[in-house]
Amino acid sequence: MDLGIKGRRAIVCASSKGLGRACAMALAAEGVDVTLTARGAEALAKTAAEIRKLYPGVTVTEVSGDITTPAGREAALKACPDPDILVNNAGGPPPGDFRNWTRDDWIKALDANMLTPIELIKATVDGMMARKFGRIVNITSAAVKAPIEVLGLSNGARAGLTGFVAGVARKTVINNVTINALLPGPFNTDRLRGAVAKAEAEKRGVSIDAMLAERAKLNPAGRFGEPEEFGLACAFLCGAKAGFITGQNILLDGGAFPGTL
Ligand code: NAP
Repeated sequence: MDLGIKGRRAIVCASSKGLGRACAMALAAEGVDVTLTARGAEALAKTAAEIRKLYPGVTVTEVSGDITTPAGREAALKACPDPDILVNNAGGPPPGDFRNWTRDDWIKALDANMLTPIELIKATVDGMMARKFGRIVNITSAAVKAPIEVLGLSNGARAGLTGFVAGVARKTVINNVTINALLPGPFNTDRLRGAVAKAEAEKRGVSIDAMLAERAKLNPAGRFGEPEEFGLACAFLCGAKAGFITGQNILLDGGAFPGTL
């Protein structure tokens, strides 16, 4: 299926690894020029080289920096000042007990998972509307629909972003600019094996591998999602014919959320 976005320009934030990387790959496969960001230059260069090799027709630009800082965002926007596509992403906040979180912890989480995407939307959406094409995809979390107790910082910050987008996404679509969120459940990335898994495995006195294997089995799909599946969903939302989908929060979780709607 040709998504009709060949030659478009995308900023894909936090994309040297995991879900962001998969989104960049899927967009490049459609002929989209991609600007990738991440803090670590080495992994970023590796991903950029892989994309160039697989899709020699697209332009791949690397911007190393922290997207949650003004300087990081400025650098990404300097490299791609007028994107047609924006994929908002950043690392998730750490787990913990809300009793221990300070105001600074909250500000950090809000900066990363709420205010950074809002700043990037603010910087790009008017240009998209003027050009009558724009696709913005926010990578949030299944925790937006079903909060995960130890991830209170994520539950709160991402819910804030979701509420903001619910309003603005209905104002941009008149000019063929859509804003949607993809809500990952458990996907097979480094993050899945990170702090949350480590803490749970330690608490239960089992290895991370054993704990993850058990978790995968408990998912209705009997497995974790693969990043490629996530990237393809993102590319679809960025497609030329996806202009009637806006303000939606689409769960990719193998059926784990048990609700009817
Ligand atoms: P991942 O595999 O750990 O990859 C994270 C990517 O983001 C890396 O390229 C990392 O590179 C980059 N990054 C992190 N913080 C950054 C920052 N401040 N500025 C620029 N780049 C940054 O994580 P993932 O699984 O793809 O997760 C992506 C998002 O989805 C996270 O917010 C996560 O919480 C959320 N999520 C994931 C899952 C899952 O199962 N995987 C489930 C629910 C929600 P550097 O470290 O070099 O910067």
